[in-house]
Amino acid sequence: MSIQDLLIKYKDDKFDNKQEILFNINHLIDDNLLCYIRLKIPDIIIQELEEFSTERKQFKKTWENVCRTLNVKQKKIILLDIDSLNLIDNKAKAEDYQICINICERLTKLGYHVRGADKLIGCMRCNKVILTESMYNFCKENKLEIKLSKIYNPYCKECLRI
Ligand SMILES: [Zn+2]
Repeated sequence: MSIQDLLIKYKDDKFDNKQEILFNINHLIDDNLLCYIRLKIPDIIIQELEEFSTERKQFKKTWENVCRTLNVKQKKIILLDIDSLNLIDNKAKAEDYQICINICERLTKLGYHVRGADKLIGCMRCNKVILTESMYNFCKENKLEIKLSKIYNPYCKECLRI
Protein backbone atom coordinates (compact mmCIF):
# COMPACT_ATOMS: atom_id res chain seq x y z
CA MET A 1 0.00 0.00 0.00
CA SER A 2 1.40 3.43 -0.89
CA ILE A 3 1.91 6.05 1.80
CA GLN A 4 -0.93 8.08 0.25
CA ASP A 5 -3.28 5.11 0.72
CA LEU A 6 -2.06 4.67 4.31
CA LEU A 7 -2.69 8.35 5.03
CA ILE A 8 -6.30 7.88 3.95
CA LYS A 9 -6.72 4.55 5.74
CA TYR A 10 -5.56 5.75 9.17
CA LYS A 11 -7.01 9.27 9.21
CA ASP A 12 -9.08 9.95 12.36
CA ASP A 13 -12.27 10.53 10.37
CA LYS A 14 -12.23 6.84 9.35
CA PHE A 15 -13.16 6.00 12.96
CA ASP A 16 -16.52 7.17 14.26
CA ASN A 17 -15.73 6.89 18.00
CA LYS A 18 -12.47 8.80 18.04
CA GLN A 19 -12.76 10.14 21.62
CA GLU A 20 -13.52 6.71 23.04
CA ILE A 21 -10.58 5.19 21.14
CA LEU A 22 -8.23 7.94 22.39
CA PHE A 23 -9.42 7.43 25.96
CA ASN A 24 -8.78 3.69 25.82
CA ILE A 25 -5.39 4.07 24.15
CA ASN A 26 -4.33 6.32 27.01
CA HIS A 27 -5.72 4.14 29.81
CA LEU A 28 -5.11 0.53 28.82
CA ILE A 29 -1.66 -0.98 29.28
CA ASP A 30 0.57 -3.58 27.63
CA ASP A 31 -1.21 -6.70 26.27
CA ASN A 32 -4.65 -5.20 26.88
CA LEU A 33 -3.64 -2.13 24.94
CA LEU A 34 -2.11 -4.13 22.09
CA CYS A 35 -5.26 -6.29 21.86
CA TYR A 36 -7.44 -3.19 21.84
CA ILE A 37 -5.39 -1.57 19.06
CA ARG A 38 -5.57 -4.75 16.97
CA LEU A 39 -9.33 -4.83 17.46
CA LYS A 40 -10.14 -1.17 16.81
CA ILE A 41 -7.48 -0.25 14.29
CA PRO A 42 -6.99 -3.53 12.43
CA ASP A 43 -3.75 -3.91 10.42
CA ILE A 44 -1.87 -1.00 12.02
CA ILE A 45 0.34 -3.38 14.05
CA ILE A 46 2.44 -5.25 11.49
CA GLN A 47 4.89 -7.04 13.81
CA GLU A 48 5.65 -7.38 17.53
CA LEU A 49 9.29 -8.33 17.97
CA GLU A 50 11.51 -9.02 20.97
CA GLU A 51 14.96 -7.69 20.16
CA PHE A 52 17.36 -6.01 17.74
CA SER A 53 19.95 -7.91 15.74
CA THR A 54 23.56 -7.57 16.93
CA GLU A 55 24.46 -5.22 14.05
CA ARG A 56 21.77 -2.78 15.19
CA LYS A 57 23.24 -2.35 18.69
CA GLN A 58 22.98 1.43 18.44
CA PHE A 59 19.20 1.22 18.00
CA LYS A 60 19.04 -0.93 21.11
CA LYS A 61 21.06 1.63 23.07
CA THR A 62 18.83 4.48 21.99
CA TRP A 63 15.79 2.50 23.09
CA GLU A 64 17.46 1.68 26.44
CA ASN A 65 18.17 5.38 27.00
CA VAL A 66 14.58 6.36 26.24
CA CYS A 67 13.28 3.74 28.69
CA ARG A 68 15.76 4.81 31.37
CA THR A 69 14.67 8.44 30.99
CA LEU A 70 11.00 7.45 31.19
CA ASN A 71 11.75 5.01 34.03
CA VAL A 72 10.00 2.08 32.34
CA LYS A 73 11.00 -1.49 31.56
CA GLN A 74 11.92 -2.28 27.94
CA LYS A 75 9.12 -4.30 26.38
CA LYS A 76 8.77 -5.07 22.68
CA ILE A 77 9.56 -3.53 19.33
CA ILE A 78 6.29 -2.69 17.61
CA LEU A 79 6.31 -2.12 13.86
CA LEU A 80 3.37 -0.11 12.58
CA ASP A 81 1.82 0.29 9.14
CA ILE A 82 2.20 4.05 9.70
CA ASP A 83 3.96 5.91 12.54
CA SER A 84 4.53 9.51 13.68
CA LEU A 85 7.66 9.85 11.55
CA ASN A 86 5.75 8.80 8.41
CA LEU A 87 3.20 11.50 9.24
CA ILE A 88 5.88 14.17 9.70
CA ASP A 89 7.75 13.07 6.56
CA ASN A 90 4.55 13.42 4.56
CA LYS A 91 3.48 16.70 6.14
CA ALA A 92 0.24 15.24 7.48
CA LYS A 93 -1.67 17.51 9.85
CA ALA A 94 -1.29 16.24 13.42
CA GLU A 95 -4.90 17.10 14.28
CA ASP A 96 -6.12 14.66 11.61
CA TYR A 97 -4.08 11.75 13.00
CA GLN A 98 -4.55 11.87 16.77
CA ILE A 99 -5.29 8.13 16.95
CA CYS A 100 -2.06 7.15 15.21
CA ILE A 101 0.00 9.74 17.12
CA ASN A 102 -1.45 8.67 20.48
CA ILE A 103 -0.71 5.01 19.75
CA CYS A 104 2.95 5.88 19.07
CA GLU A 105 3.29 8.12 22.13
CA ARG A 106 1.48 5.82 24.53
CA LEU A 107 3.39 2.69 23.49
CA THR A 108 6.69 4.59 23.71
CA LYS A 109 5.84 5.80 27.23
CA LEU A 110 5.07 2.23 28.28
CA GLY A 111 8.50 0.99 27.14
CA TYR A 112 7.84 -0.17 23.59
CA HIS A 113 10.05 0.82 20.69
CA VAL A 114 7.72 1.98 17.92
CA ARG A 115 8.77 2.27 14.28
CA GLY A 116 7.22 2.29 10.83
CA ALA A 117 7.27 -1.10 9.13
CA ASP A 118 8.80 0.69 6.14
CA LYS A 119 12.01 1.07 8.17
CA LEU A 120 12.45 -2.06 10.29
CA ILE A 121 11.55 -5.74 9.88
CA GLY A 122 12.27 -9.07 11.56
CA CYS A 123 15.12 -11.23 10.21
CA MET A 124 13.52 -13.94 8.08
CA ARG A 125 15.10 -16.66 10.16
CA CYS A 126 15.34 -15.51 13.79
CA ASN A 127 13.03 -12.45 13.87
CA LYS A 128 15.62 -10.14 15.41
CA VAL A 129 15.11 -6.64 14.08
CA ILE A 130 17.02 -5.51 10.97
CA LEU A 131 16.58 -2.69 8.42
CA THR A 132 14.06 -3.06 5.61
CA GLU A 133 15.46 -2.94 2.08
CA SER A 134 14.09 0.59 1.54
CA MET A 135 15.69 1.82 4.78
CA TYR A 136 18.95 0.10 3.83
CA ASN A 137 18.89 1.90 0.45
CA PHE A 138 18.05 5.20 2.12
CA CYS A 139 20.99 4.85 4.55
CA LYS A 140 23.32 3.90 1.71
CA GLU A 141 22.25 6.76 -0.58
CA ASN A 142 22.50 9.30 2.22
CA LYS A 143 25.78 7.86 3.49
CA LEU A 144 24.46 7.66 7.02
CA GLU A 145 27.00 6.52 9.57
CA ILE A 146 25.61 3.11 10.14
CA LYS A 147 27.38 -0.15 9.38
CA LEU A 148 25.88 -1.65 6.22
CA SER A 149 26.62 -4.86 4.38
CA LYS A 150 27.62 -4.58 0.70
CA ILE A 151 24.27 -5.92 -0.48
CA TYR A 152 20.92 -6.09 1.26
CA ASN A 153 19.95 -9.31 3.03
CA PRO A 154 16.63 -10.14 4.66
CA TYR A 155 18.66 -11.93 7.37
CA CYS A 156 20.67 -10.64 10.32
CA LYS A 157 24.44 -11.08 10.39
CA GLU A 158 24.30 -13.97 12.86
CA CYS A 159 21.95 -15.94 10.62
CA LEU A 160 24.06 -15.25 7.51
CA ARG A 161 27.01 -16.89 9.28
CA ILE A 162 25.16 -20.16 9.77
ZN1 LIG B 1 18.59 -13.66 12.19
